[in-house]
Amino acid sequence: MTATVIEPLGTAATVPSAAPLHYLSCRWCGSAAEAGRLLCPVCGASGLVRQISAGVGTVRRLLGAIGGRDTHTQRCTVAMDEGFVARGTVVDVLPGEIAVGSRVRVLVSEPGTTYFAVRD
Ligand SMILES: [Zn+2]
Repeated sequence: MTATVIEPLGTAATVPSAAPLHYLSCRWCGSAAEAGRLLCPVCGASGLVRQISAGVGTVRRLLGAIGGRDTHTQRCTVAMDEGFVARGTVVDVLPGEIAVGSRVRVLVSEPGTTYFAVRD
């Protein structure tokens, strides 16, 4: 779902509205897995139930910044508090501000990526 924002100069920009991060929970063993899986990565069962993440996690691995020095984004993997790993991008950060162990929260989740912000 998207929303159209009218900029002060009259140009329209399409920005994603807040969309939650979904994950899968195994009905049999309770393990959490990233969305898109067909089978539980722990027990192999197919009884996966779609859940909505609380949206808070810890940076597990830094994957490199996007673009040049002027961009303030950091790609990373995040171990979510529910127990699954999400791949995404932390936005509005200074170079070196994000480290393994930093706490982040979900801003918006889109198919294929999730945008995070440093947790306040
Ligand atoms: Zn399982």
